Amino acid sequence: MPAAPRLSRRTSERTRVVRSGDACFGDGGFALIGGPCSVESRAQLTAVASAVERGGGVMLRGGAWKARTSPYDFQGLGDRAVELLVEQGRRSGLPVIVEALVERHVARLVGNVAMIQIGARNMQNVPLLQSAARSGLPILLKRGPSATLDELLLAAEYVLLEGNDRVVLCERGIRSFDSATRNVLDLGGALRLKELTDLPVIIDPSHASGRRSLVEPLTLAAAAAGLDGAIVEVHPTPEEALSDAAQAIDCATFLHMARAVSATRSALLGSPRFAIA
Ligand code: PEP
Ligand code: MN
Repeated sequence: MPAAPRLSRRTSERTRVVRSGDACFGDGGFALIGGPCSVESRAQLTAVASAVERGGGVMLRGGAWKARTSPYDFQGLGDRAVELLVEQGRRSGLPVIVEALVERHVARLVGNVAMIQIGARNMQNVPLLQSAARSGLPILLKRGPSATLDELLLAAEYVLLEGNDRVVLCERGIRSFDSATRNVLDLGGALRLKELTDLPVIIDPSHASGRRSLVEPLTLAAAAAGLDGAIVEVHPTPEEALSDAAQAIDCATFLHMARAVSATRSALLGSPRFAIA
């Protein structure tokens, strides 16, 4: 049987532009999403949202339901976190993205957020992909830590086949033999994705590296290479974060990074590297 045609395949030089509220992915800019791993309090979110806004970030992230490796670790504020995010979204004007772990979360997010994240652990959870797709909201689809690029693209097909063409792919680090970094950012893989598909491709340097010192340089590498954006974990007092403390950057670093991203893209404007961006 011949292979079915892929809805995600690259058919033109141009990247598909995915809009989500005022945020835009794939328009030639570098979209920065920032926010805490887990929503912890109103004060935490207010501080982070104002940094994201001042830095020109396009979207506020925040974890509500956290699927932690250990059941003894903080599991997120759940529905209360969604309320706090909606409030901050209104106050700051930033569109909000939250990860859904099960279909009930999708229902809770519809009408409240601008984009749904499907996390690395759920990349091949087909019923969840389909229900998120049917919400009509744009989907940020993260690559599983052991998934091939083709498996990621086939997971995206499940969303596209539901008639939802607003999909952004995210490389968030893959497993390797070396524990020096939490995962390994597959920058080459992310760039190869841009050759295979016209969907926008962003990176998550926070979960890829697990170390705050590497978040800004990896983001700059992605910006210089012509990828479409990054989603980064930001916390007002990173060492006190209730989840993923080691990889959170503080608000000042976010602002510095955002300026450095702009400078990098301006310096490279007109480079052939951006022909497919
Ligand atoms: C997250 O972004 O909060 C998260 C859990 O990421 P991942 O699914 O990539 O592990
Ligand atoms: Mn996290």
